[in-house]
Amino acid sequence: MNVCVTGSGYVGLITGAGLATLGHQVICVDISKEKVGQINAGEPPIFEHGLADLMKTVVPKSLTATTDLTDAVKRSRIIFITVGTPSSRHGEIKLDQIEKISHSIGEALHDKKDYCLIVVKSTVIPGTTEKVVETVERVSGKEFGKDFGVAMNPEFLREGSALTDFFSPDRIIIGSPDKKSRETLKELYSSFSCPVLESSFREAEMIKYASNAMLATKISFINEIGNICKNLGIDTNKVAEGIGLDKRIGPHFLRAGIGFGGSCFPKDVSALAHQAATAGITPRVLRAVLDVNREQPNRLLAILDSHTPKGKKIAILGLAFKKDTDDVRESPSLSIIKELQMENSSLILYDPMGMKEVMKLFPHLTFASSAQEAVNKADIVLILTEWDEFKTVNFGDKLVIDGKNLLYERPPTNYEGVCW
Ligand code: NAD
Repeated sequence: MNVCVTGSGYVGLITGAGLATLGHQVICVDISKEKVGQINAGEPPIFEHGLADLMKTVVPKSLTATTDLTDAVKRSRIIFITVGTPSSRHGEIKLDQIEKISHSIGEALHDKKDYCLIVVKSTVIPGTTEKVVETVERVSGKEFGKDFGVAMNPEFLREGSALTDFFSPDRIIIGSPDKKSRETLKELYSSFSCPVLESSFREAEMIKYASNAMLATKISFINEIGNICKNLGIDTNKVAEGIGLDKRIGPHFLRAGIGFGGSCFPKDVSALAHQAATAGITPRVLRAVLDVNREQPNRLLAILDSHTPKGKKIAILGLAFKKDTDDVRESPSLSIIKELQMENSSLILYDPMGMKEVMKLFPHLTFASSAQEAVNKADIVLILTEWDEFKTVNFGDKLVIDGKNLLYERPPTNYEGVCW
């Protein structure tokens, strides 16, 4: 099928490259000329395992990029919306990118003769997809269900294993009141063998939020248990192992540490809490999840303070919000760096993939060219991302404070964990 993906960030590019690999003709659209140029040159603008190799096989044969949305929409049967949905300072979702792209798609549909399906894949609060339908109908003068279809199809990929997640999803959610929309999207996904759940727009939108809120809750839960365990001298990791053996709970997302970051959990839990409050529901659990998460980096800073770091050089190992990605959005590492800067601490930073973005944010800070160099030049080491390569660093007898549960099994000589 001819597919167009509007918004070529982490989700858009993975979706586009994945569908192109499955034999579809894909055009990625973005407002960034730089991204479009990189994609057309076969170079991924983001780091994701396997993406560079995969792009070599599909660009330009079945994957191209453009800034011309109208032309891409005219040539496509399926149009994905994968633009960003960040949050405001108050935690409310910002839908301006969704509104703008819906308007542009509506304009492009005005002169389009044949049927097409618009698929909202961005994470949006319940009620948003209905507004997309309204906007496209108003601007295009066409009718939903007759001239064009709309489906809400949330994305569940994890950065760091995004391609694996694309090709082997746990489930596909297809939300739409319109049968033809659901059938068209099912046809696109016909090669996947996972369960497909059909739902309304709002149910599909809510499934995404509830999934992320559940995962974030597990993390804040184990972090709170970890804080209690550390205080009582109990091994948190043994407790997590024991809890995880219960089939009703499972072993995943039970690694205590400095909390969650990234472009999804913090903003999605905040957006859901905000929407609940607007609807008159007090989101007690969601607020507690966010509170625990906000506090967790301070636990590590308190441990650091207890070791009197004044005048000592601190190596920061890890800037990305998790391993195997270059994404530093909402990374706990950044809030720790900001705190340490306010105390005028002397820092040296290293991350295998996240340094480019952080250099733009903190150009005056010192960066190392390897983890070992950062450690060699420092007195104290903070581990803030669980990159595997940090496991093989020689820490000597330097103090290592581990915020990510990375070295727990084979701890260096002078070691302390944030919750263990
Ligand atoms: P991103 O910021 O990496 O990418 C968004 C892209 O959209 C950018 O390249 C931007 O230039 C482009 N864009 C904005 N307005 C545009 C327009 N009018 N026309 C064309 N392009 C436009 O965002 P992302 O991380 O890919 O997330 C996209 C959506 O998917 C969000 O709603 C997010 O919550 C959701 N999501 C993200 C992940 C993830 O792991 N990153 C996982 C699941 C769902």
